[in-house]
Amino acid sequence: DRSVCPPLPVLGRDVRVPLVTGGEVTYAALDYAASAPALQRVWDDVAAYAPYYGSVHRGAGYLSQLSTDLFENSRAEVAAFLGCRPDDQVVFTRSTTDSLNLLAAAVPAGCRVFVFETEHHAALLPWERRADVTVTYLDAPRSPREAVETLERALADREPYGPALVCVTAASNVTGELWPVRELAAAAHAHGARIVLDAAQLAPHHPVDVTELDADWIAFSGHKLYAPFGAGVLAGRPDWLQDAAPYLAGGGATRQVTRDAAGGVAVDWHATAARHEAGSPNVIGAYAIASACKALTEAGFEGLVERERRLIETVRAGLAEVPEVRVLSLFGDDAPRVGVLAFTVDGWNSSHFAAALSAEYGIGVRDGLFCAHPLVRLLLGGTPDAPGECGAPDGGNLNAIRVSFGAGTPDEHVTRFVSAVRGLVR
Ligand code: PMP
Repeated sequence: DRSVCPPLPVLGRDVRVPLVTGGEVTYAALDYAASAPALQRVWDDVAAYAPYYGSVHRGAGYLSQLSTDLFENSRAEVAAFLGCRPDDQVVFTRSTTDSLNLLAAAVPAGCRVFVFETEHHAALLPWERRADVTVTYLDAPRSPREAVETLERALADREPYGPALVCVTAASNVTGELWPVRELAAAAHAHGARIVLDAAQLAPHHPVDVTELDADWIAFSGHKLYAPFGAGVLAGRPDWLQDAAPYLAGGGATRQVTRDAAGGVAVDWHATAARHEAGSPNVIGAYAIASACKALTEAGFEGLVERERRLIETVRAGLAEVPEVRVLSLFGDDAPRVGVLAFTVDGWNSSHFAAALSAEYGIGVRDGLFCAHPLVRLLLGGTPDAPGECGAPDGGNLNAIRVSFGAGTPDEHVTRFVSAVRGLVR
């Protein structure tokens, strides 16, 4: 079937792990939402370049020039992957967390920030740190439509002047559900607000086009996009970024530094992305992200999405046959989602269940609250503000199990997962 992409080759495909029952098995990495395995192609690209890496923007030698070109070309590659507008800036950061903290540091004084309580902590928490910013936390919506209505109501309630920003996930790292980002962007703009998308979980699974979505900024992490750790991206409108104080003060962010008449220093900061990239850049990390963007584009999202849809269906159908399993969802069981699914199992402690999947079946999933505590508490039947415990479906679970997969996942991993769940429950 040519509409379906085969699994893309990733690192760790042949890793064997011991089982508690004796013997060993090929590891099934089903925790892509935390960190996806790097594409073999990305690893090969990085390995081919590694002998030649040198300082970026800081050397006259040939390898330094090569590295500078590679770094700046990586920026262009990422901009193309994201469908950026010509004026957009692509800032290389360390991660999504870093990107959103950078934007939080850059929003104008007096900004009103609107964020749903369901966000990952990376999107929920950075705004509070600004004393001159007001944050409005929005209640969890129970449908995409309610999300748009909730936002519209909150925006209509604010004073119709001054800067405002909406920060929203594009795909949930807990339920995998897709948020109506195009509609949320339209609502934000209709009320004179800007919008930033946390695309940490969307970018690895779906094509993203900031121009088409009309998103002002977008953030994602390399290590979830089939590149290794250490680099991320914040891309979007240049104005707030170039008006803000540099995220880090240091070399590379400045055009010129002089002593001033009062005996201090006068700094002329860059207005480009370099303003927020002080220090020697992570050229390998940036190149790895660019290589991943290229590999995904070349493989074709159409086939990747179709294949992932089938894997999601296999998991959903398999879990639906086990009455003890409760899949967590904000928008309802049939809501469109990426390959991320959290659940609990009646009669089981989630951590024990996840440990058993590893020990007995060689399957790596995650258990916990997934850095989205208010959301998971709510989905477990508690309330977002429950301090410690919350009422879970089986009265005992304080956390959940999350299975997640993507471009490198072979069918066998998800079929093994489904039969493992059945086996453990039995
Ligand atoms: N947002 C979402 C939706 C995420 O899933 C994650 C990672 N779990 C982050 C932000 C933070 O990403 P990082 O840890 O790479 O900074």
